Amino acid sequence: MPFPKSEDAHRLDLYLMKASDSVRICVPVCEQGLVAAEGAIAKAGEIGDLIEVRLDCLDPFQIGEGFKNGEHLFDRSQRPTILTFRPAEQGGHRKLDTKSRLLFWLFNRPTSADFLDIELDLALNASVFDYGKKVDWTRVICSHHNFVGVPGDLDRIFDRMTQTPARILKVAFQAGDITDCIAAFYLLDRARSEHREMIAIAMGTAGIMTRVLGPSRGAFLTYGALENESATAPGQITARELRSLYRIDRISRQTRIMGLAGLPVTHSISPYIHNAAFESAQFDGVYMPFEVREISSFIKRMVHPRTREIDWNFLGLSVTAPHKTSVMNCLDWIDPAAKEIGAVNTIIVQGDELHGFNTDADGFVSPIIPRIGELREARCAVIGAGGAASAAVWSLRQKGAEVTVYARDVNKARTLAERFGASSKPLRSALFEGFDIVINATPLGTSGAQETKTPATAAQLGGARLAYDLVYNPSETQFLREAREAGCELIRGLEMLVMQAGEQFRMWTGAEAPAEVMRDAAIRALRLRQCE
Ligand code: NAP
Repeated sequence: MPFPKSEDAHRLDLYLMKASDSVRICVPVCEQGLVAAEGAIAKAGEIGDLIEVRLDCLDPFQIGEGFKNGEHLFDRSQRPTILTFRPAEQGGHRKLDTKSRLLFWLFNRPTSADFLDIELDLALNASVFDYGKKVDWTRVICSHHNFVGVPGDLDRIFDRMTQTPARILKVAFQAGDITDCIAAFYLLDRARSEHREMIAIAMGTAGIMTRVLGPSRGAFLTYGALENESATAPGQITARELRSLYRIDRISRQTRIMGLAGLPVTHSISPYIHNAAFESAQFDGVYMPFEVREISSFIKRMVHPRTREIDWNFLGLSVTAPHKTSVMNCLDWIDPAAKEIGAVNTIIVQGDELHGFNTDADGFVSPIIPRIGELREARCAVIGAGGAASAAVWSLRQKGAEVTVYARDVNKARTLAERFGASSKPLRSALFEGFDIVINATPLGTSGAQETKTPATAAQLGGARLAYDLVYNPSETQFLREAREAGCELIRGLEMLVMQAGEQFRMWTGAEAPAEVMRDAAIRALRLRQCE
């Protein structure tokens, strides 16, 4: 809906009321130069519902005296604008003392912005504003930022904000832990019960869910960056991700919540795979990355139906490193196979209980069967002795394969092998001639510092039939290149990732997984990651 840019405040109200049926994404623009700012505002108008123009980002040389040159930035915007002039201690880009901030707001600010974001300390002295350019407090967002952590006196901050004449309240604080999101949701609940309009954000990667779920819990708006590089606060994801990856316009209080708990998780492609599947199956669900340091407090305070502190429609979790084993202590029931493997990667809320499963094992073995057929007595080498190796060895042994575990730490290899009736050998100078399958279950080859590494060379892999790399990013690893040179058939880690995700989808929704959709989404997400 194009914004009817007009002096007429009534038309702005109508626009915002219409937009309140849906979600408002505000795209911040923080540029040093006027020309760049103008370009960014035009681009922001294509994806955002509102545009925050951060005048504190502008080079003082560019704006000249009195910000007069900045007026046209607001005049020409295709969307309602928010004018912000933040001091450094509140997350702004310049040192500003109280006097220069007041001078700006009272006398020097451009007047054609639709909303003003005025920090709490100034808004508390609202009568001072009577001496300058008129301020319409029904268009003011009163904001407070804390870049250290959750303020201990949140209720007091809220109370002080309500003492100002500002219509909209905003609190943003740094999340040190995912459970800090509870405080942001608490503020939104309190605002709703007191009929106040509020924005509450937990900043940082642990707070992503507050940006995605905020509007469905009553937030006046959520912020989304124009590009990853132009984010104006920690953990701010892009407006495009909010719209097309998380489908934020369709999230409501009824939407089923799922996500991936681990550390790190922000580079996972699982949100792309699951959200694409939900969209294709028209399932009302959203899947987010949950950056979890301490799994037991996360489960207790946010997930377990009997103890959680937030009221949300939580359906299930994927679990990744380093929590696959420790999470088992937090569950009411664990599938016997997951117990044997010693790892849970999938959790489902069943009534008031949490049930744990392992879909890695089935996901691992499914791509092998069409290539090898019968696995009974197949000779398999598993390189690595961690969580993924455990699931691989367990499922291969279940199918009657002969398995040898190769690890750099022979004790770890032996311990894993003994658990499942396999044998073990040191990885150093291993030769894989005569093996039907050689599996890389180490992170060697993963994009980043490990990318050029491989646990086996072409010379070591010569004479093996099939090489299977569990690493999925990049899709073509050094291990697979070596294996191709050695003449092996190849299986990519992406196949396992999509298969195990499909099994999770089936468990959560009760429907068959749209395998092709999930696979395409995974490939697209990997391409995106490679461009980043
Ligand atoms: P993990 O529990 O940390 O185990 C990693 C294993 O790799 C350990 O045995 C470790 O040995 C070994 N290792 C690490 N660096 C090594 C090196 N430089 N040389 C030799 N061995 C090394 O990790 P995981 O959860 O099993 O995951 C392993 C890989 O599988 C990861 O890349 C993960 O992304 C991938 N994975 C893929 C899927 C999928 O769906 N495709 C699913 C699960 C896992 P030490 O114990 O001696 O450190």
